[in-house]
Amino acid sequence: MKPKGPGIILKPGREKPLLRRHPWVFSGSIARLEGEPRPGETVCVRSSNGVFLALGAYSHESQIRVRVWAWDETQAVNEDFLRERLENAIAFRSSLLAQGATDAVRLVYAEADGIPGLIVDRFGDGLVVQFLSWGAEYWKTTIVQALIDLTAPGWIYERSDADVRELEGLPVRTGLLYGEQPAEVFYIHEYGLSYALDVAGGQKTGFYLDQRDNRLAFRNLAADADVLDCFAYTGGFTLNALAAGAKSVVAVDSSGPALDGARENIDSNELPLDRVELIEGDVFSVLRTFRDEGRSFDAIVLDPPKFAPTSAQVQRAARAYKDVNLLGFKLLRSGGKLVTFSCSGGVDAALFQKIVADAALDAGVQAQIVGYLHQAGDHPVALNFPESAYLKGLVCRIS
Ligand code: SAH
Repeated sequence: MKPKGPGIILKPGREKPLLRRHPWVFSGSIARLEGEPRPGETVCVRSSNGVFLALGAYSHESQIRVRVWAWDETQAVNEDFLRERLENAIAFRSSLLAQGATDAVRLVYAEADGIPGLIVDRFGDGLVVQFLSWGAEYWKTTIVQALIDLTAPGWIYERSDADVRELEGLPVRTGLLYGEQPAEVFYIHEYGLSYALDVAGGQKTGFYLDQRDNRLAFRNLAADADVLDCFAYTGGFTLNALAAGAKSVVAVDSSGPALDGARENIDSNELPLDRVELIEGDVFSVLRTFRDEGRSFDAIVLDPPKFAPTSAQVQRAARAYKDVNLLGFKLLRSGGKLVTFSCSGGVDAALFQKIVADAALDAGVQAQIVGYLHQAGDHPVALNFPESAYLKGLVCRIS
């Protein structure tokens, strides 16, 4: 059967991931293009013998040439379709968190919510959005209008300045899309603590929502402890440690503005700044110095940025994870806990655990895992898209 609109015909045998409903079509599996789809336009993907597989958004430059919208040939990809997907994603979040737990929630998590390339975070009465693929970009006006109708926000701010936009061949774009410019700094709330948010200048969309539950869980480990918070950003783990009654906290980050934010957050929550040492520097070299000085801690958090965004950088990333975890183990007192994370898509949970095991071995410590940590529930994992499970954490106790 001849497709109606522009189409993609796959090479023989390349339909398997799509039959398992994996939502990406890589450029290497495409035999030919039928018609001339514009970037972001919906195309019909067929197997080499013409069997319908999926409808998806075309991206002319990316290795990920198509991101799937729907598995049903009769599905119209239009305003109603997008509105329904958004409605579904947003409705689920409202039942996820206890009343009053937080006013900062990821409302839409891209492929995992069936809307490839779109991230929407709610912060107070506003939304921060990222359009990270041509498909999301193509439907931008429709999406923004639907978000206005569904969430009645005071403002919508675009932060489409993530690296992946460049891989898509999309220009970086930031700025107000709707409503009143949010205050330069305003406060969001999470489990009884408040955080200043800089929507325009903060990292990513401004706040690492995925660590919400893990920051809370850290309170259990931090009471009366000497804590080391590595890759501290604006002090998420530091604040929770202080709230739990930590004896002291050393927070390390390479970003001066992030640490200024941490200081302000400690202050505005009326937590004891005199128990905190904020160090602007490279975690790897700071930890080496600490090791040489013989410093030690009861609880250490390692929450580095993505060392391996994709599987291509895995080897180099593995070395970095090994290095930093080895140093972490060396700085722990007997009975102390290492809370260690990887948010690298290219490093899966099994590999991460193996790297941490190697680090313990080389550090000469006997370690046991006493907790497994994950991204918060507003970052769901689609079973057909295992890449959406990206944040993994281990709580390791040494004897
Ligand atoms: N734990 C934080 C989020 C950490 S994000 C929270 O809960 O909010 C990762 C942080 O690592 C960023 O703030 C970034 O500035 C910092 N960073 C990246 N590379 C670093 C390095 N080599 N040394 C120190 N900090 C680094």
